[in-house]
Amino acid sequence: MVYDVAVVGLGAMGAAALCDLARRGKRVLGLERFERGHARGSSHGESRAIRLGYFEHPSYVPLARAAYERWYELERLTGRSVLSKTGVLEIGRPGSVIVAGSLAASRLHGLPHEVLDAAEIARRYPQFMLPRDYSAVWQPDGGFVRPELGNELHLRLAEEAGARSAFGAKVTAIEPGPSSIRIRTRDGDFEAASVVIAAGAWIGDLVPALAPKLTTTRQVLCWFRAHDPEAVKLGALPVFIVDGEEDIAYGFPDIGAGLKCASHHDSGVWSHADEARQDAGPADEARMRRFLESYLPAGAGALAAMQTCIYTKTPDEDFVIDLHPQDRRIVVASPCSGHGYKFASVIGEVLADLAIEGETQHDISRFGIGRLLG
Ligand SMILES: Cc1cc2nc3c(=O)[nH]c(=O)nc-3n(C[C@H](O)[C@H](O)[C@H](O)COP(=O)(O)OP(=O)(O)OC[C@H]3O[C@@H](n4cnc5c(N)ncnc54)[C@H](O)[C@@H]3O)c2cc1C
Repeated sequence: MVYDVAVVGLGAMGAAALCDLARRGKRVLGLERFERGHARGSSHGESRAIRLGYFEHPSYVPLARAAYERWYELERLTGRSVLSKTGVLEIGRPGSVIVAGSLAASRLHGLPHEVLDAAEIARRYPQFMLPRDYSAVWQPDGGFVRPELGNELHLRLAEEAGARSAFGAKVTAIEPGPSSIRIRTRDGDFEAASVVIAAGAWIGDLVPALAPKLTTTRQVLCWFRAHDPEAVKLGALPVFIVDGEEDIAYGFPDIGAGLKCASHHDSGVWSHADEARQDAGPADEARMRRFLESYLPAGAGALAAMQTCIYTKTPDEDFVIDLHPQDRRIVVASPCSGHGYKFASVIGEVLADLAIEGETQHDISRFGIGRLLG
């Protein structure tokens, strides 16, 4: 049997693509090297921030709008809650990358937002302790999505629509032939008319030209039991990002496991994603405790848990979403650089468009692979 499309990697992007393709009636196969719901890639850890006013670049805003719509659609189709709007507070000095960038994107696209000075932040959110010259952009539409649930729901919908998914199925080679593409795994080969490669931090194994351009970094998530649980509970604390003195770090309200926070900066580089380990230790805890004690002391109670996770970064921190330069039947997807999850719902649609039509109506001009391959 020749599948219409094979999807390699069933993390955030692969699961969403599988779902979109199956729901369009395509014969589709998903291959994932690890077990279902594993925590070895980039999509585990309870929550991912979602926001419209995009400090990274205003051109992401239309894609973010579409992503919200597609998360709501997933919720309608499954009856489950994936996206929680808590608002997002982006904090720093007025000219800092995050505050200035978010403000520019919000103004350009006419997004709901407010600019708060330190006194107003203290009035609304007394749990923060900020230098007097700090300010914040408040985006009421911001919040978080639940990555484990989002991935599982995409997989379930895909399977209900007829997709075949296989776990523990590591793809070892993708070999284009004249009439179809052969996908090799240790347990057998498959054939498909087109292939989506959504292999996350391992994408360089299957698209070797990309490998030297991407950096896989060690990122640590920490959960703390707050001194004052009321101050950090869902409903009291929004999602927040602080462009601080030492670190850019962010956090989420306690939705069960504790107040979650992490640095956006890395704590090391892995030369290959296979090296990644759940090896978070005292230095990681100390770094985040220092951050909380500086800006959100009510949260800096006992450590509840830590997890490591991988960012796959491009040099410009924009995504790669494009057709393979040597074979237009192959779609290459590396939407990470630490900020891709929120878009997974719409990137599934984009990848399906590219696999079937070779083009999409969404503006992905920023994500061309050619800019990295030169
Ligand atoms: C700590 C952390 C915090 C983040 N915070 C945010 C945030 O707040 N907001 C946000 O929007 N984004 C955030 N991100 C980024 C976001 O999580 C990623 O952009 C997203 O998870 C990437 O999805 P993916 O599908 O590319 O990778 P993954 O979900 O890792 O999926 C790739 C899959 O491919 C599989 N695979 C690899 N090689 C093969 C092979 N040869 N054969 C078969 N399968 C294979 C892997 O096992 C894996 O399951 C964060 C990331 C991290 C690590």
